[in-house]
Amino acid sequence: MSDQPPASQPLTEAEARLLRQTFDIARRAQTHGNMPFGALLTGPNGDILMEMENGYFPDLDATGHAERLLATEASKRYREPFLAECTLYSSAEPCAMCAGGIYWTGIGRVVYGLSEHALKTLTGDHPDNPTMNLPCRTVFAAGQKEIAVLGPCLEDEASDVHKGAWG
Ligand SMILES: [Zn+2]
Repeated sequence: MSDQPPASQPLTEAEARLLRQTFDIARRAQTHGNMPFGALLTGPNGDILMEMENGYFPDLDATGHAERLLATEASKRYREPFLAECTLYSSAEPCAMCAGGIYWTGIGRVVYGLSEHALKTLTGDHPDNPTMNLPCRTVFAAGQKEIAVLGPCLEDEASDVHKGAWG
């Protein structure tokens, strides 16, 4: 696996607006005492279906990453042929667990801000977020469904969200 940081990828204006919204959700999560991560789901027409903050608190749910919580909720609300036309936007690259959740839910596309590589640089060995080193593309490549991935994107802005969070 290459240790080179992946380069930021271009977005449409609409995609950039949606991704920036996940940065706002991530900041909101932090004001609620959680880690600064956020995600949202858009439908086939680009309309926002749901938003999700990191959800460690109040239940101390260590699996409460924003994307995993969103995937679980999306799976309860919608069926797979529809979800295959949906896009999950995430302030940071989905970890192996979240990528697995996205895969099993059947969400067809992922757009993320901060790469796992860059997040790991920011969090270091912080006990609250021992970032893994397994890109979501690698997880998806091991599966039997096509999941389109766009990212990292707007990485400077995505990184700003984490300022002071892991000091
Ligand atoms: Zn995760």
